[in-house]
Amino acid sequence: LGRKINTALVDLTKAPVVDEKVLDALLRDICAALLASDVNVMLVQRLRNNVKKSVNLNELGGGANRKRVIQKAVMDQLYELVDPGVQPYKPIKHKANVFMMVGLQGAGKTTTCTKLASFYQRKGWKTALVCADTFRAGAFDQLKQNATKAKIPYYGSYTETDPVAIAQEGVDKFKADKFEIIIVDTSGRHKQEAELFEEMKQISAAVEPDSTIFVMDGTIGQAADGQARAFKEAANFGSIIMTKMDGHAKGGGAISAVAATDSPIVFIGTGEHLHDLDRFEPKSFVRKMLGMGDMSDLVEKVQDMKLDENKNLMKNIQSGQYSLRDMYDQFQQISKMGPLSKLMGSIPGMPTEMLAGSEEEGGKRIKRMMCIMDSMTDQELDGDSKVFEKDHSRVIRVARGSGTSVHEVEEILSQYKRFAEMVKTMGGKGGLLNNMPTDP
Ligand code: GDP
Ligand code: MG
Repeated sequence: LGRKINTALVDLTKAPVVDEKVLDALLRDICAALLASDVNVMLVQRLRNNVKKSVNLNELGGGANRKRVIQKAVMDQLYELVDPGVQPYKPIKHKANVFMMVGLQGAGKTTTCTKLASFYQRKGWKTALVCADTFRAGAFDQLKQNATKAKIPYYGSYTETDPVAIAQEGVDKFKADKFEIIIVDTSGRHKQEAELFEEMKQISAAVEPDSTIFVMDGTIGQAADGQARAFKEAANFGSIIMTKMDGHAKGGGAISAVAATDSPIVFIGTGEHLHDLDRFEPKSFVRKMLGMGDMSDLVEKVQDMKLDENKNLMKNIQSGQYSLRDMYDQFQQISKMGPLSKLMGSIPGMPTEMLAGSEEEGGKRIKRMMCIMDSMTDQELDGDSKVFEKDHSRVIRVARGSGTSVHEVEEILSQYKRFAEMVKTMGGKGGLLNNMPTDP
């Protein structure tokens, strides 16, 4: 999906003029990609209409600005789809906050319970787990094992068969012991059935959770819409945790679940281990879905700063070629960017190591390196530093010419080699840099 939408957006930047036809073609590509990613059909339709409505081609300025407005409209619509604007429950200190997990069997409830408990425990909350799953054989053992590993107190029973009774007992016990976060794990069924929903309602009535969390398997695709709706109706959950986002989850399920229930996603599960739980960030989720990593902010900024003046540099980097002059040009850009230069650290291959320390120190270091490189000949700058290796007198000449030392010149050359190596792996066809939208 990411690649497709991204390609569509990049194609957009290549179009000389953006008219109705180009916009339609772009939206068609994006909608096709969203559908392929299992986003609900109605939502895709809505996105298309909203983008069309929010972009008035006649009122836009020309060229690059026009393209940027359309890109932004698409991104904004996607952000909105995964962000219902509802705040999830915030636990209160020195009080018992009861969480109840609901969801189908295999969704990842038990695993997520322990992850969540561990998350709060690490933040200093007094946390405990209650196993109210009497349906699945071995459910208590599973929770017990996880909880023991994470050093979290737990409650459950091998003999009691009434989940409502266990839930009640466990919560009462931990409340009496002044626990602050009490997480109740419930059983699931393979399908959404009346029996499961009835059990959920009874447990909920007994423990009166402050927050009910719907745990959903992130890989279920188009089924997400219906499943999320059914659980919202039966359990009226306040928030969602999407699991298995580390595997082949396409992201469409998450979008559908949020849109169908107006409930926020609070965390995503990214693996089977205790620490594989990440806070959900709508913007970063959308960016990742678009295959843009977390670099899109930066890309936007860089574009705004008219870095695209420097087309040759980008082209060289994208093709994996990198000369000393390219490094010089990058230094020039970095020194122009000021505080933003720190951000450049998030683009691998950007020579920002020398920016370590304060902004001022970094700036000085860069200036000094550029000064040294000013003593290089054009031929040397356009090459790949091999001439310096073959002929050491060149190093001595540059050091003299710039009033610095041989050691410093050698330092620059070795730095250059590291960057060139990085650029080689970054650029090229499959390289990360070629998946960023840049003006041609
Ligand atoms: P429950 O039936 O809802 O309690 O689901 P479980 O917690 O027992 O999880 C079912 C399976 O999914 C187990 O094998 C878990 O290890 C696995 N699982 C849960 N969350 C994640 C996740 O975020 N990523 C991956 N890869 N596997 C997960
Ligand atoms: Mg379970």
